[in-house]
Amino acid sequence: MEQRFRSSENSEWGDFPAQTMCDETRDFPIPLEDGKNRTLGELYDRTPKELISKVMLEEKVFTTWYHRRFVLLGDACHKLNPAGGHGAVTAIHDAIALANLIYCMPSKTSEDVTRIFEEYHKERLPAVTESYNNSRQLARVSEKGIVGRIMRFLTTYMPVWLWRIALARTLRFRPQVGFIKAIEAKGPVKPVVSASEQKSRAMFEGQQTTAASL
Ligand SMILES: Cc1cc2nc3c(=O)[nH]c(=O)nc-3n(C[C@H](O)[C@H](O)[C@H](O)COP(=O)(O)OP(=O)(O)OC[C@H]3O[C@@H](n4cnc5c(N)ncnc54)[C@H](O)[C@@H]3O)c2cc1C
Repeated sequence: MEQRFRSSENSEWGDFPAQTMCDETRDFPIPLEDGKNRTLGELYDRTPKELISKVMLEEKVFTTWYHRRFVLLGDACHKLNPAGGHGAVTAIHDAIALANLIYCMPSKTSEDVTRIFEEYHKERLPAVTESYNNSRQLARVSEKGIVGRIMRFLTTYMPVWLWRIALARTLRFRPQVGFIKAIEAKGPVKPVVSASEQKSRAMFEGQQTTAASL
């Protein structure tokens, strides 16, 4: 079987290498709140085989996010290290920004499509870059050697107030869907202004006012 996979294009990513990866790591201890000595193997045993796959760890913010009428969002245009826990968050925020802009797109012409994609990219790139840099820093906790040790020490003993400052940089990006009722912004971290949200909110409120006056 190994021979078969070695000679195919999927030699590193098929079922067999995934199973090998599980076999090699099954004794790895995992801390769970029940305090018992758990291992990765216990998770593997409870997971249906067809859901186990080996994925490539990529980290990159791509330059091209759109072309003509095609647009990318989420992992397709920015891959963040899972250590930051922000990949899905940024993907959802991309979708919100795009939906806002599509909602208030004046026409379906190619020019308008390109223009909203430009606006989308302009709004989302700073947020994604912030999350990308933050995730890279947090990923260093799993590095071997002195850097990893220092990072593990710092993250374990870092005071809560310092964590709050660090997290505030990424948490301030949280656009809302502008064409439904706004959610009150709570919490100490003030959200940065989302241009797409403002635009669609203005249109939504205008439509509500017009409808009410009829
Ligand atoms: C181990 C790990 C832990 C993570 N933890 C977190 C976390 O705590 N918090 C967080 O915010 N993010 C986390 N992430 C990141 C998060 O999972 C991703 O950033 C997020 O799922 C990206 O969403 P997406 O929709 O862009 O892509 P995906 O979720 O990858 O969705 C793409 C979909 O397209 C499908 N597809 C692919 N090719 C084709 C095709 N040709 N035709 C049709 N369909 C196709 C795929 O099957 C998939 O369903 C983690 C990631 C990993 C790997």
